[in-house]
Amino acid sequence: MFATSNETSLSSQDFIELEDQYGAHNYHPLDVVIDRAEGAWVFDVEGRRYLDFLSAYSAVNQGHCHPAIYKALVEQAAKVTLTSRAFRNDQLPLLLKELHDLTGYPMALPMNSGVEAVETALKAARKWGQTVKGIPAGQAEILTCTNNFHGRTISVVGFSSESQYKCGFGPFAPGFKQVIFGDIESFHQAITPNTCAILIEPVQGEAGIRIPPAGYLKAVAELCKEHNILLICDEIQSGLGRTGKLLASEHEGVAPDVVILGKALSGGFYPVSAVLSSREVLGVFHPGDHGSTFGGNPLACAVARAALKVLVDEDLIARSAELGAYALDRLKRLKHPNVAEIRGLGLWIGIDLKGPARPLCEALKDRGVLCKETHDTVIRFAPPLMISREDLDWGLEQIEAVILAS
Ligand SMILES: *Cc1c(COP(=O)(O)O)cnc(C)c1O
Repeated sequence: MFATSNETSLSSQDFIELEDQYGAHNYHPLDVVIDRAEGAWVFDVEGRRYLDFLSAYSAVNQGHCHPAIYKALVEQAAKVTLTSRAFRNDQLPLLLKELHDLTGYPMALPMNSGVEAVETALKAARKWGQTVKGIPAGQAEILTCTNNFHGRTISVVGFSSESQYKCGFGPFAPGFKQVIFGDIESFHQAITPNTCAILIEPVQGEAGIRIPPAGYLKAVAELCKEHNILLICDEIQSGLGRTGKLLASEHEGVAPDVVILGKALSGGFYPVSAVLSSREVLGVFHPGDHGSTFGGNPLACAVARAALKVLVDEDLIARSAELGAYALDRLKRLKHPNVAEIRGLGLWIGIDLKGPARPLCEALKDRGVLCKETHDTVIRFAPPLMISREDLDWGLEQIEAVILAS
C-alpha cells in the first residue's frame, strides 16, 4: 500500500506523476522535485543543484535549513510542541517580548498562516471601528487596493482584483471597497464616516514587485490619522528584511497602526504569523472573541524566536539592502527589447517582460536557478538574504544569459 521500501529509487518523473495523480491541481509548479536544501541552494532527487531565487516567497529569508533555527525546532520538539492556549507555555511570552523589542509595537497576536493573521487584523479593525471609533454595528468599511494579495480565504479573495482568485468562489463578504494602489486621490475619495481601516502592502509582491510612488504610503498614513482610520500594513512578504529594512513601511518613515507578519517569521520551518499593534486595537479582543488551536504554540514560538535572532545576529537586513542595490544596478544595465521594466527594493527584484515570463523561468531552471513568474509577464527574484556575493553573481549571470537569449 505505502511505497516505503523503494522510496529512494523513485525518479523526479515518478514523483511528478504521483503528485499529479493524487493531488489537486491548484498549482502549476516548475518540474523540479526537491529533496534537500541548504542555505541558498536546493537539490533535486537526482542530485542536481539549483540556486533558490524565490526563497519560498520570502519565507526562507534566513536560508534553507538554518542550523540555529533547526536546533531550536528540534530542542523544542523534544520538550513540548502544543499546549493550546487553554494553558500557557514558556515560549509565547518570550516571543511576544522579543517582537516588541524588535519592532516597538506594544502587543502581538500570534497565528499560523499569513492569511489567518490578515483575517485577525480585519476582525480587530472592524471591532475597533465599532467599539472605539463608534461606527454603527455591521457598517464598518475596510479599504483594500487594486492588485492586492493577502491570501486565499473566501473573505480575502472576495476583495481581490484578480478574477481567477475569486472566480467560482462567491458569494463574498461585504464591507470591503477598493482603491487604486499608488493613487492617494482614490483613497481620499473612498473614505466615509464608516471607514475603519485600509489594508495595504507597502510594496506589492504578488502583483510583480510594485513599488508605489515616493510619498504615497506617507500620504496614506497622514489621511488615516486625519480621519481616524487604521493603517494596516501587510508585511508578510515585504517585512523582515526583504526590502532592506525590517519593515518596508520604514522606507517612508511610516509606523502603521497594525503590522502583519508571516513567512520569514519562522525562517521556513513552520507556519508562524502575527499581528502587531497597539493596546487600543488588540485590546478589542476579549477571552473567547478569537483564537486558533495552533496559534502561539511553543514549537512555533521557539522557531520564530530563533528565526528573528538569525535575522538580527547575521545582519541580514543590511545585507539585503546592500546586495539588493548591487543586483538591481547590475540588472538595470541589461538593455534588451524583451525587458519592459526592472523594479526592486532590497533583494526583491521584478523583471517585467514584454512577453510571457514562464519560458524564461523554465530556461533558468535548466541553468540551475529557480524563480517563478508572477502575473504572466514578471519574473520575481527573491534570493535568501544570506546568499553570498559569489552565488548572487553566478545567479545574475544566468539571468542575464537567459534574457539576452530571449
Ligand atoms: C503570502 C502572503 C499572504 C498569505 O500568506 P499564507 O501563509 O500563504 O496564508 C498574505 N499577504 C501577503 C502580502 C503575502 O505575500
